[in-house]
Amino acid sequence: MNAAGRKRKAVVIGAGIGGLTAAATLRSTDWEVEVHERAKELRPAGGALSVMTNAVLALRTLGIDLKLADHAEILEELHFLTHRGKRIRTLRFKEICDRLGAPSFGVSRTLLQQLLLKEIDDCPVRLDARATGFEPDGGGVRVRFADGSETHGDVLIGADGFHSAVRRQLAGPEQPRETGYICWVATPQFTHPRVPKQYGGHYWGRGKRFGIANIGGGEIYWWGTKNMPPERARDWQGDKDEILRTYAGWAPEVVAAIEATPFEAITAFPARDRPFRSEWGKGPVTLLGDAAHPMMTSLGQGACMAIEDAVVLAHHLKDADDPQRALRAYEAARRPRTRKIVEGAHALSALEQTEQPLRVLGRDLFFRFAPASVVDKQNAEYLDFHAVGSPDDRTLETQP
Ligand SMILES: Cc1cc2nc3c(=O)[nH]c(=O)nc-3n(C[C@H](O)[C@H](O)[C@H](O)COP(=O)(O)OP(=O)(O)OC[C@H]3O[C@@H](n4cnc5c(N)ncnc54)[C@H](O)[C@@H]3O)c2cc1C
Repeated sequence: MNAAGRKRKAVVIGAGIGGLTAAATLRSTDWEVEVHERAKELRPAGGALSVMTNAVLALRTLGIDLKLADHAEILEELHFLTHRGKRIRTLRFKEICDRLGAPSFGVSRTLLQQLLLKEIDDCPVRLDARATGFEPDGGGVRVRFADGSETHGDVLIGADGFHSAVRRQLAGPEQPRETGYICWVATPQFTHPRVPKQYGGHYWGRGKRFGIANIGGGEIYWWGTKNMPPERARDWQGDKDEILRTYAGWAPEVVAAIEATPFEAITAFPARDRPFRSEWGKGPVTLLGDAAHPMMTSLGQGACMAIEDAVVLAHHLKDADDPQRALRAYEAARRPRTRKIVEGAHALSALEQTEQPLRVLGRDLFFRFAPASVVDKQNAEYLDFHAVGSPDDRTLETQP
Protein backbone atom coordinates (compact mmCIF):
# COMPACT_ATOMS: atom_id res chain seq x y z
CA MET A 1 0.00 0.00 0.00
CA ASN A 2 1.13 3.58 -0.52
CA ALA A 3 0.82 6.33 2.10
CA ALA A 4 -2.77 7.03 0.97
CA GLY A 5 -3.72 3.37 1.57
CA ARG A 6 -3.99 2.66 -2.19
CA LYS A 7 -2.62 -0.59 -3.56
CA ARG A 8 0.47 0.16 -5.62
CA LYS A 9 0.46 -0.91 -9.25
CA ALA A 10 3.18 -2.45 -11.38
CA VAL A 11 2.80 -2.31 -15.16
CA VAL A 12 4.60 -5.27 -16.74
CA ILE A 13 5.39 -5.21 -20.48
CA GLY A 14 5.67 -8.70 -21.99
CA ALA A 15 3.95 -11.97 -21.09
CA GLY A 16 6.95 -14.23 -21.69
CA ILE A 17 8.47 -16.34 -18.91
CA GLY A 18 9.87 -13.23 -17.17
CA GLY A 19 6.70 -11.12 -17.39
CA LEU A 20 4.38 -13.92 -16.26
CA THR A 21 6.71 -14.81 -13.40
CA ALA A 22 6.85 -11.15 -12.34
CA ALA A 23 3.05 -11.11 -12.28
CA ALA A 24 3.08 -14.22 -10.08
CA THR A 25 5.76 -12.99 -7.69
CA LEU A 26 4.31 -9.47 -7.32
CA ARG A 27 0.82 -10.86 -6.79
CA SER A 28 2.22 -12.80 -3.84
CA THR A 29 3.02 -9.39 -2.28
CA ASP A 30 0.45 -6.59 -1.94
CA TRP A 31 1.10 -5.10 -5.39
CA GLU A 32 -1.55 -4.88 -8.08
CA VAL A 33 -0.16 -6.06 -11.42
CA GLU A 34 -1.19 -5.43 -15.01
CA VAL A 35 0.54 -7.33 -17.86
CA HIS A 36 0.55 -6.02 -21.45
CA GLU A 37 1.58 -8.31 -24.31
CA ARG A 38 1.93 -7.39 -27.97
CA ALA A 39 0.84 -10.83 -29.27
CA LYS A 40 -2.82 -11.15 -30.24
CA GLU A 41 -3.13 -14.45 -28.37
CA LEU A 42 -1.05 -16.38 -25.87
CA ARG A 43 -0.38 -19.24 -28.24
CA PRO A 44 1.29 -22.41 -27.02
CA ALA A 45 4.94 -21.32 -27.08
CA GLY A 46 7.10 -23.80 -29.00
CA GLY A 47 10.33 -25.38 -27.81
CA ALA A 48 11.40 -26.29 -24.33
CA LEU A 49 13.50 -25.02 -21.47
CA SER A 50 15.37 -26.13 -18.45
CA VAL A 51 13.97 -24.81 -15.18
CA MET A 52 16.93 -25.42 -12.95
CA THR A 53 17.21 -25.83 -9.19
CA ASN A 54 18.09 -22.15 -8.70
CA ALA A 55 14.80 -21.03 -10.28
CA VAL A 56 12.80 -23.52 -8.20
CA LEU A 57 14.57 -22.40 -4.99
CA ALA A 58 14.03 -18.76 -5.89
CA LEU A 59 10.26 -19.21 -6.33
CA ARG A 60 10.12 -21.10 -3.05
CA THR A 61 11.32 -17.99 -1.18
CA LEU A 62 7.91 -16.48 -1.97
CA GLY A 63 6.02 -19.69 -1.27
CA ILE A 64 5.41 -20.30 -5.01
CA ASP A 65 5.44 -23.92 -6.19
CA LEU A 66 4.60 -24.47 -9.87
CA LYS A 67 4.27 -28.21 -9.14
CA LEU A 68 6.67 -29.00 -11.97
CA ALA A 69 7.33 -32.42 -10.49
CA ASP A 70 3.73 -33.41 -11.31
CA HIS A 71 4.08 -32.48 -14.97
CA ALA A 72 7.69 -32.35 -16.16
CA GLU A 73 10.73 -34.59 -16.32
CA ILE A 74 13.39 -34.20 -13.65
CA LEU A 75 16.90 -33.70 -15.09
CA GLU A 76 19.11 -36.17 -13.28
CA GLU A 77 22.09 -36.47 -15.59
CA LEU A 78 23.47 -34.65 -18.59
CA HIS A 79 25.75 -36.65 -20.87
CA PHE A 80 28.41 -34.83 -22.90
CA LEU A 81 29.24 -36.95 -25.94
CA THR A 82 31.30 -36.88 -29.09
CA HIS A 83 29.33 -36.40 -32.29
CA ARG A 84 29.23 -40.16 -32.74
CA GLY A 85 27.76 -40.63 -29.26
CA LYS A 86 30.86 -41.66 -27.28
CA ARG A 87 30.78 -40.42 -23.70
CA ILE A 88 33.04 -37.50 -22.76
CA ARG A 89 31.58 -36.87 -19.31
CA THR A 90 28.35 -37.22 -17.38
CA LEU A 91 27.21 -34.38 -15.14
CA ARG A 92 25.36 -35.87 -12.21
CA PHE A 93 22.81 -33.14 -11.63
CA LYS A 94 20.84 -35.24 -9.19
CA GLU A 95 23.61 -35.26 -6.58
CA ILE A 96 24.09 -31.49 -6.77
CA CYS A 97 20.35 -30.77 -6.88
CA ASP A 98 19.65 -33.10 -3.93
CA ARG A 99 22.32 -31.31 -1.94
CA LEU A 100 20.80 -27.92 -2.81
CA GLY A 101 17.29 -29.08 -1.99
CA ALA A 102 15.29 -28.94 -5.24
CA PRO A 103 15.30 -30.75 -8.60
CA SER A 104 15.97 -29.28 -12.05
CA PHE A 105 13.40 -29.88 -14.80
CA GLY A 106 13.19 -30.12 -18.57
CA VAL A 107 9.86 -28.58 -19.51
CA SER A 108 8.07 -27.54 -22.68
CA ARG A 109 7.53 -23.77 -22.97
CA THR A 110 3.83 -24.44 -23.42
CA LEU A 111 3.61 -26.25 -20.09
CA LEU A 112 5.61 -23.59 -18.25
CA GLN A 113 3.40 -20.89 -19.74
CA GLN A 114 0.26 -22.78 -18.63
CA LEU A 115 1.57 -23.28 -15.09
CA LEU A 116 2.50 -19.60 -14.78
CA LEU A 117 -0.92 -18.51 -16.13
CA LYS A 118 -2.54 -20.73 -13.51
CA GLU A 119 -0.37 -19.14 -10.83
CA ILE A 120 -1.26 -15.56 -11.82
CA ASP A 121 -4.95 -16.52 -11.73
CA ASP A 122 -7.11 -13.43 -12.41
CA CYS A 123 -4.26 -10.95 -12.90
CA PRO A 124 -5.15 -9.01 -16.09
CA VAL A 125 -3.09 -9.86 -19.18
CA ARG A 126 -3.99 -7.44 -21.99
CA LEU A 127 -3.20 -8.86 -25.43
CA ASP A 128 -2.57 -7.03 -28.71
CA ALA A 129 -0.97 -4.29 -26.59
CA ARG A 130 2.39 -3.23 -28.03
CA ALA A 131 4.12 -0.77 -25.73
CA THR A 132 5.76 2.06 -27.66
CA GLY A 133 7.10 4.38 -24.95
CA PHE A 134 6.78 5.78 -21.45
CA GLU A 135 7.33 8.93 -19.44
CA PRO A 136 7.55 9.65 -15.73
CA ASP A 137 4.25 10.99 -14.46
CA GLY A 138 3.32 12.21 -10.98
CA GLY A 139 5.77 10.02 -9.07
CA GLY A 140 4.86 7.04 -11.24
CA VAL A 141 4.98 6.30 -14.96
CA ARG A 142 2.66 6.58 -17.95
CA VAL A 143 3.00 3.92 -20.65
CA ARG A 144 1.87 4.36 -24.26
CA PHE A 145 0.71 1.63 -26.65
CA ALA A 146 0.61 1.35 -30.43
CA ASP A 147 -3.22 1.50 -30.50
CA GLY A 148 -3.15 4.93 -28.81
CA SER A 149 -4.15 3.65 -25.37
CA GLU A 150 -2.21 4.44 -22.18
CA THR A 151 -1.89 3.11 -18.68
CA HIS A 152 -0.36 4.39 -15.47
CA GLY A 153 1.58 2.58 -12.78
CA ASP A 154 3.81 3.26 -9.79
CA VAL A 155 6.51 1.25 -11.57
CA LEU A 156 7.10 -0.07 -15.10
CA ILE A 157 8.82 -3.41 -15.61
CA GLY A 158 10.17 -4.01 -19.10
CA ALA A 159 10.01 -7.80 -19.51
CA ASP A 160 9.71 -7.45 -23.27
CA GLY A 161 12.57 -9.70 -24.32
CA PHE A 162 15.57 -9.41 -26.61
CA HIS A 163 14.17 -6.53 -28.70
CA SER A 164 12.77 -4.67 -25.69
CA ALA A 165 11.10 -1.33 -26.48
CA VAL A 166 11.53 -0.29 -22.84
CA ARG A 167 15.28 -0.94 -23.01
CA ARG A 168 15.53 0.92 -26.32
CA GLN A 169 14.03 4.04 -24.74
CA LEU A 170 16.36 3.74 -21.74
CA ALA A 171 19.56 2.83 -23.59
CA GLY A 172 19.12 4.12 -27.15
CA PRO A 173 19.93 2.00 -30.21
CA GLU A 174 22.28 -0.95 -29.58
CA GLN A 175 23.73 -3.63 -31.83
CA PRO A 176 23.32 -7.27 -30.79
CA ARG A 177 26.47 -9.38 -30.45
CA GLU A 178 26.07 -11.86 -33.31
CA THR A 179 28.19 -14.93 -32.82
CA GLY A 180 27.98 -16.50 -36.27
CA TYR A 181 25.93 -19.61 -35.71
CA ILE A 182 22.36 -20.76 -35.99
CA CYS A 183 20.18 -22.75 -33.54
CA TRP A 184 17.51 -25.06 -34.85
CA VAL A 185 15.01 -26.26 -32.22
CA ALA A 186 12.03 -28.62 -32.18
CA THR A 187 9.91 -30.67 -29.76
CA PRO A 188 8.68 -33.68 -31.78
CA GLN A 189 7.05 -36.88 -30.57
CA PHE A 190 9.98 -39.28 -30.61
CA THR A 191 11.04 -42.53 -29.02
CA HIS A 192 14.40 -44.21 -29.42
CA PRO A 193 16.15 -46.94 -27.40
CA ARG A 194 19.09 -44.57 -26.80
CA VAL A 195 16.81 -41.82 -25.45
CA PRO A 196 15.31 -43.27 -22.25
CA LYS A 197 13.17 -41.40 -19.73
CA GLN A 198 14.98 -38.36 -18.27
CA TYR A 199 17.71 -38.58 -20.92
CA GLY A 200 19.78 -35.47 -21.55
CA GLY A 201 22.55 -35.68 -24.16
CA HIS A 202 24.77 -32.95 -25.60
CA TYR A 203 26.79 -34.01 -28.66
CA TRP A 204 29.85 -31.95 -29.58
CA GLY A 205 31.29 -31.65 -33.07
CA ARG A 206 33.43 -29.04 -34.80
CA GLY A 207 31.49 -25.82 -35.28
CA LYS A 208 28.27 -27.70 -34.61
CA ARG A 209 26.48 -29.32 -31.70
CA PHE A 210 23.29 -31.22 -31.04
CA GLY A 211 21.24 -31.67 -27.88
CA ILE A 212 18.44 -34.05 -26.95
CA ALA A 213 16.33 -33.88 -23.78
CA ASN A 214 13.47 -36.27 -23.06
CA ILE A 215 10.77 -33.92 -21.73
CA GLY A 216 8.16 -36.64 -21.07
CA GLY A 217 4.82 -37.45 -22.66
CA GLY A 218 6.62 -39.09 -25.60
CA GLU A 219 8.21 -35.75 -26.57
CA ILE A 220 11.82 -34.73 -26.84
CA TYR A 221 13.38 -31.31 -27.12
CA TRP A 222 16.21 -31.20 -29.62
CA TRP A 223 18.43 -28.33 -30.63
CA GLY A 224 21.17 -28.20 -33.21
CA THR A 225 23.76 -25.51 -33.92
CA LYS A 226 25.96 -24.80 -36.93
CA ASN A 227 28.48 -22.05 -37.63
CA MET A 228 27.57 -19.77 -40.53
CA PRO A 229 27.92 -16.09 -41.40
CA PRO A 230 25.74 -13.91 -39.09
CA GLU A 231 23.71 -12.54 -41.99
CA ARG A 232 22.79 -16.09 -43.11
CA ALA A 233 21.97 -17.15 -39.52
CA ARG A 234 19.73 -14.08 -39.17
CA ASP A 235 17.68 -14.92 -42.24
CA TRP A 236 18.14 -18.63 -42.77
CA GLN A 237 16.35 -19.90 -45.89
CA GLY A 238 17.64 -23.48 -45.83
CA ASP A 239 15.73 -26.74 -45.70
CA LYS A 240 15.61 -30.00 -43.77
CA ASP A 241 18.19 -31.53 -46.10
CA GLU A 242 20.71 -28.96 -44.93
CA ILE A 243 20.04 -29.94 -41.32
CA LEU A 244 20.32 -33.65 -42.13
CA ARG A 245 23.55 -33.06 -44.08
CA THR A 246 24.95 -31.08 -41.12
CA TYR A 247 24.59 -34.12 -38.85
CA ALA A 248 25.30 -36.93 -41.35
CA GLY A 249 27.34 -39.64 -39.60
CA TRP A 250 26.40 -38.44 -36.07
CA ALA A 251 24.95 -40.74 -33.40
CA PRO A 252 21.90 -42.67 -34.69
CA GLU A 253 19.52 -40.98 -32.23
CA VAL A 254 20.57 -37.54 -33.55
CA VAL A 255 19.84 -38.43 -37.16
CA ALA A 256 16.61 -40.24 -36.22
CA ALA A 257 15.37 -37.24 -34.19
CA ILE A 258 15.79 -34.91 -37.17
CA GLU A 259 14.24 -37.42 -39.56
CA ALA A 260 11.21 -37.75 -37.25
CA THR A 261 10.59 -33.98 -37.21
CA PRO A 262 8.46 -32.32 -39.90
CA PHE A 263 10.37 -29.35 -41.35
CA GLU A 264 7.50 -26.95 -40.39
CA ALA A 265 8.00 -27.94 -36.72
CA ILE A 266 11.63 -26.76 -36.71
CA THR A 267 12.35 -23.17 -35.62
CA ALA A 268 15.60 -21.41 -36.47
CA PHE A 269 17.20 -18.63 -34.34
CA PRO A 270 20.43 -16.73 -34.86
CA ALA A 271 22.67 -17.25 -31.79
CA ARG A 272 23.22 -13.85 -30.23
CA ASP A 273 23.32 -11.87 -27.04
CA ARG A 274 24.20 -8.32 -26.07
CA PRO A 275 27.21 -6.95 -24.21
CA PHE A 276 26.26 -6.71 -20.53
CA ARG A 277 24.75 -3.35 -19.69
CA SER A 278 25.05 -2.15 -16.09
CA GLU A 279 22.22 0.35 -16.15
CA TRP A 280 18.84 -1.38 -16.23
CA GLY A 281 16.57 1.41 -15.16
CA LYS A 282 15.85 4.95 -14.20
CA GLY A 283 13.23 6.49 -11.92
CA PRO A 284 10.12 4.27 -11.89
CA VAL A 285 11.35 2.00 -14.72
CA THR A 286 13.37 -1.21 -14.67
CA LEU A 287 14.11 -4.23 -16.86
CA LEU A 288 13.93 -7.94 -16.26
CA GLY A 289 14.90 -11.16 -18.08
CA ASP A 290 16.18 -10.97 -21.68
CA ALA A 291 15.34 -7.26 -21.82
CA ALA A 292 17.97 -6.68 -19.12
CA HIS A 293 20.57 -9.35 -19.88
CA PRO A 294 20.07 -11.42 -23.03
CA MET A 295 22.48 -14.35 -23.02
CA MET A 296 23.70 -17.27 -25.09
CA THR A 297 21.89 -20.54 -24.39
CA SER A 298 25.01 -22.53 -23.39
CA LEU A 299 24.31 -22.54 -19.65
CA GLY A 300 20.55 -23.13 -20.04
CA GLN A 301 19.95 -20.26 -17.62
CA GLY A 302 18.13 -17.57 -19.67
CA ALA A 303 14.64 -18.34 -18.40
CA CYS A 304 15.98 -19.20 -14.94
CA MET A 305 17.60 -15.77 -14.68
CA ALA A 306 14.30 -14.15 -15.69
CA ILE A 307 12.58 -16.16 -12.91
CA GLU A 308 15.25 -15.20 -10.36
CA ASP A 309 14.93 -11.53 -11.41
CA ALA A 310 11.17 -11.63 -10.87
CA VAL A 311 11.61 -13.16 -7.42
CA VAL A 312 14.29 -10.70 -6.28
CA LEU A 313 12.27 -7.78 -7.68
CA ALA A 314 9.23 -8.83 -5.64
CA HIS A 315 11.34 -9.15 -2.48
CA HIS A 316 12.56 -5.60 -2.98
CA LEU A 317 9.18 -4.06 -3.84
CA LYS A 318 7.32 -5.87 -1.09
CA ASP A 319 6.82 -3.36 1.76
CA ALA A 320 9.12 -0.82 0.04
CA ASP A 321 8.55 2.73 1.33
CA ASP A 322 10.24 4.09 -1.78
CA PRO A 323 9.56 1.90 -4.86
CA GLN A 324 12.12 3.71 -7.02
CA ARG A 325 14.88 3.07 -4.49
CA ALA A 326 13.70 -0.53 -4.32
CA LEU A 327 14.12 -0.83 -8.12
CA ARG A 328 17.74 0.38 -7.88
CA ALA A 329 18.40 -2.06 -5.03
CA TYR A 330 16.93 -4.90 -7.13
CA GLU A 331 19.20 -3.99 -10.05
CA ALA A 332 22.25 -3.82 -7.78
CA ALA A 333 21.40 -7.21 -6.28
CA ARG A 334 21.02 -8.85 -9.69
CA ARG A 335 23.94 -7.33 -11.59
CA PRO A 336 26.88 -9.45 -10.34
CA ARG A 337 25.09 -12.77 -10.79
CA THR A 338 23.61 -12.03 -14.21
CA ARG A 339 26.85 -10.48 -15.50
CA LYS A 340 28.72 -13.64 -14.54
CA ILE A 341 26.18 -15.84 -16.30
CA VAL A 342 25.98 -13.70 -19.47
CA GLU A 343 29.78 -13.70 -19.75
CA GLY A 344 30.12 -17.37 -18.75
CA ALA A 345 27.54 -18.44 -21.34
CA HIS A 346 29.25 -16.32 -24.03
CA ALA A 347 32.69 -17.83 -23.34
CA LEU A 348 31.32 -21.38 -23.13
CA SER A 349 29.38 -20.92 -26.36
CA ALA A 350 32.57 -19.82 -28.20
CA LEU A 351 34.45 -22.86 -26.89
CA GLU A 352 31.61 -25.24 -27.74
CA GLN A 353 31.29 -23.91 -31.30
CA THR A 354 35.01 -23.88 -32.05
CA GLU A 355 36.21 -25.38 -35.34
CA GLN A 356 39.93 -25.22 -34.58
CA PRO A 357 41.18 -28.81 -34.19
CA LEU A 358 43.49 -28.01 -31.25
CA ARG A 359 40.80 -26.12 -29.35
CA VAL A 360 38.34 -28.96 -30.05
CA LEU A 361 40.85 -31.43 -28.61
CA GLY A 362 41.55 -29.19 -25.59
CA ARG A 363 37.81 -28.74 -24.97
CA ASP A 364 37.10 -32.47 -25.08
CA LEU A 365 40.12 -33.36 -22.94
CA PHE A 366 39.30 -30.70 -20.36
CA PHE A 367 35.70 -31.83 -20.03
CA ARG A 368 36.76 -35.49 -19.89
CA PHE A 369 39.45 -35.12 -17.25
CA ALA A 370 38.64 -31.99 -15.19
CA PRO A 371 38.30 -33.09 -11.55
CA ALA A 372 34.71 -33.67 -10.45
CA SER A 373 35.24 -31.21 -7.59
CA VAL A 374 35.98 -28.39 -10.08
CA VAL A 375 33.02 -29.16 -12.34
CA ASP A 376 30.61 -29.69 -9.42
CA LYS A 377 31.68 -26.47 -7.74
CA GLN A 378 31.01 -24.48 -10.90
CA ASN A 379 27.61 -26.10 -11.41
CA ALA A 380 26.62 -25.69 -7.79
CA GLU A 381 27.36 -21.98 -8.09
CA TYR A 382 24.91 -21.64 -10.99
CA LEU A 383 22.33 -23.92 -9.40
CA ASP A 384 22.28 -22.36 -5.93
CA PHE A 385 19.94 -19.44 -5.54
CA HIS A 386 21.50 -18.53 -2.20
CA ALA A 387 24.72 -17.74 -4.07
CA VAL A 388 22.89 -14.66 -5.40
CA GLY A 389 23.43 -12.29 -2.53
CA SER A 390 21.10 -9.38 -1.92
CA PRO A 391 21.26 -6.14 0.01
CA ASP A 392 18.84 -7.80 2.40
CA ASP A 393 19.48 -11.51 2.51
CA ARG A 394 17.10 -11.95 5.41
CA THR A 395 14.18 -11.61 3.00
CA LEU A 396 15.47 -14.48 0.88
CA GLU A 397 15.21 -17.32 3.36
CA THR A 398 13.58 -20.33 1.75
CA GLN A 399 10.10 -20.95 3.12
CA PRO A 400 9.36 -24.49 4.28
C1 LIG B 1 16.96 -21.69 -28.85
C2 LIG B 1 16.83 -21.23 -27.42
C3 LIG B 1 16.94 -22.17 -26.41
C4 LIG B 1 16.87 -21.76 -25.08
N1 LIG B 1 16.98 -22.68 -24.08
C5 LIG B 1 16.92 -22.28 -22.78
C6 LIG B 1 17.01 -23.23 -21.70
O1 LIG B 1 17.16 -24.42 -21.90
N2 LIG B 1 16.91 -22.76 -20.43
C7 LIG B 1 16.72 -21.44 -20.16
O2 LIG B 1 16.63 -21.08 -18.96
N3 LIG B 1 16.62 -20.51 -21.14
C8 LIG B 1 16.71 -20.91 -22.45
N4 LIG B 1 16.61 -20.00 -23.45
C9 LIG B 1 16.47 -18.59 -23.12
C10 LIG B 1 15.05 -18.24 -22.74
O3 LIG B 1 14.16 -18.62 -23.76
C11 LIG B 1 14.95 -16.75 -22.52
O4 LIG B 1 16.01 -16.30 -21.70
C12 LIG B 1 13.63 -16.44 -21.82
O5 LIG B 1 12.56 -16.81 -22.64
C13 LIG B 1 13.54 -14.95 -21.50
O6 LIG B 1 12.27 -14.66 -21.06
P1 LIG B 1 11.72 -13.18 -21.15
O7 LIG B 1 10.37 -13.22 -20.55
O8 LIG B 1 12.72 -12.24 -20.60
O9 LIG B 1 11.64 -12.86 -22.71
P2 LIG B 1 10.69 -13.49 -23.82
O10 LIG B 1 10.41 -14.91 -23.50
O11 LIG B 1 11.30 -13.15 -25.13
O12 LIG B 1 9.32 -12.71 -23.65
C14 LIG B 1 9.17 -11.36 -24.03
C15 LIG B 1 7.68 -11.09 -24.27
O13 LIG B 1 7.49 -9.69 -24.49
C16 LIG B 1 6.63 -9.50 -25.59
N5 LIG B 1 6.93 -8.16 -26.16
C17 LIG B 1 8.03 -7.80 -26.85
N6 LIG B 1 7.99 -6.50 -27.17
C18 LIG B 1 6.81 -6.02 -26.66
C19 LIG B 1 6.19 -4.73 -26.63
N7 LIG B 1 6.76 -3.65 -27.20
N8 LIG B 1 4.99 -4.58 -26.01
C20 LIG B 1 4.39 -5.66 -25.41
N9 LIG B 1 4.94 -6.91 -25.41
C21 LIG B 1 6.14 -7.08 -26.01
C22 LIG B 1 6.95 -10.66 -26.53
O14 LIG B 1 5.90 -10.92 -27.44
C23 LIG B 1 7.15 -11.80 -25.51
O15 LIG B 1 5.93 -12.45 -25.20
C24 LIG B 1 16.67 -20.38 -24.78
C25 LIG B 1 16.53 -19.44 -25.82
C26 LIG B 1 16.62 -19.86 -27.13
C27 LIG B 1 16.50 -18.83 -28.24
